[in-house]
Amino acid sequence: MKEKTRLVTAGRHPERFAGLVNTPIFRGSTILHGSMAEWEEKKKRRAADEPGATTYGRFGTPTHHALEEAIAELEGGYRSQVFPSGLAACATALTALLAAGDHVLLTDSAYSPTRTFLTRVLGRFGVEVTIYDPTSGGGIEASMRPNTRVVYVESPGSETFEIQDIPAIAAVAHRHGAKVVMDNTWGTPLFFKPFEHGVDVSIQAATKYIVGHSDAMLGIVTCTEETWPLIKRTTQDLGQTAGPDDVYLALRGLRTMNVRLQQHWKSGVEVASWLETRPEVEKVLHPALPSHPGHALWKRDFLGAAGLFAVVLKPASPAAVEAFIDSLQLFGIGVSWGGYESLVIPFNPSGDRVTAKWPYTGQALRLHVGLEDPADLIADLEGGFAALAEIEVCTPLRA
Ligand SMILES: *Cc1c(COP(=O)(O)O)cnc(C)c1O
Repeated sequence: MKEKTRLVTAGRHPERFAGLVNTPIFRGSTILHGSMAEWEEKKKRRAADEPGATTYGRFGTPTHHALEEAIAELEGGYRSQVFPSGLAACATALTALLAAGDHVLLTDSAYSPTRTFLTRVLGRFGVEVTIYDPTSGGGIEASMRPNTRVVYVESPGSETFEIQDIPAIAAVAHRHGAKVVMDNTWGTPLFFKPFEHGVDVSIQAATKYIVGHSDAMLGIVTCTEETWPLIKRTTQDLGQTAGPDDVYLALRGLRTMNVRLQQHWKSGVEVASWLETRPEVEKVLHPALPSHPGHALWKRDFLGAAGLFAVVLKPASPAAVEAFIDSLQLFGIGVSWGGYESLVIPFNPSGDRVTAKWPYTGQALRLHVGLEDPADLIADLEGGFAALAEIEVCTPLRA
């Protein structure tokens, strides 16, 4: 079955729900059983890890199981588990695979709350963290230790958009008995197939493109058969559970994700290419542009591009940058991304980086290109540059 068809059919069972196209929202805590025999039978099925065999609301409802079944199928993993946020998914996956005395390799480009969780929380429980250069590929071998249990990857990197050589990293990790955990939010289940590239546990901040409308928080972890029991048990030990209304919104968003992503991809490349021609711009960091240092790897491993990328302005005064951002009408100032609307947020990675110095001095901005007409978005940015120039003439082009 082709991918677009799978996106429509995955996890749907109308015959179980009075013929309804969509799995309804099941709310509930207690689940009643007709007899002791039925209760014992259900417990047995649950112990045997039968999908959907649940004895209590915290372990999910048919709404949750529909999303889990769909994402496992789309990402190409064994089973999936829903979480109340993307960060809860990252934190639980890492907690499941690490114990006191273990060592984890973490990419310098990781989503910063994930990094904080590892160092501030798991660090307190005796897990050692080494930050590695996201572009080092198989070079991570030098940092592997006998107690390295997890290599954490995120490609492209949050904010800075380095593309990682996941197959090369996975080969080294597996040779040393470590598992590869990937934050695959940018790639989505459609544009990067983690389990074809050696990943053991894949994480989606479903808050982004799966929900797709900026109206719910959700996370999903998808596992290999080997890693699934640990992830599942740890999820239950930590009491992680998501609300069925949010899960329903994710299921609803999922069905249109391909058409939305095709447009985000196309419009994102159009806006990024236009920005590259502007004299006020130092660098555009978009993996689908040939100027991106990781472009060849992106072409080799990815099936598309999200609408999220970074642009570094030429050095300008803070007042001029502020005038640029404030003048934008279609790019809202805010974090998160993956909704239908365009967003802009300034960032400064130089303070966090330990493996490589951020080479730019101008203000960096992360842009999310939404589903507006790209011509309007370009006109909006053009207005921003006019506002910037009004405050300050840009530093001249370097020779
Ligand atoms: C947003 C995001 C997360 C966290 O997701 P939440 O649902 O906001 O907790 C994790 N990883 C990446 C790459 C993200 O962009």
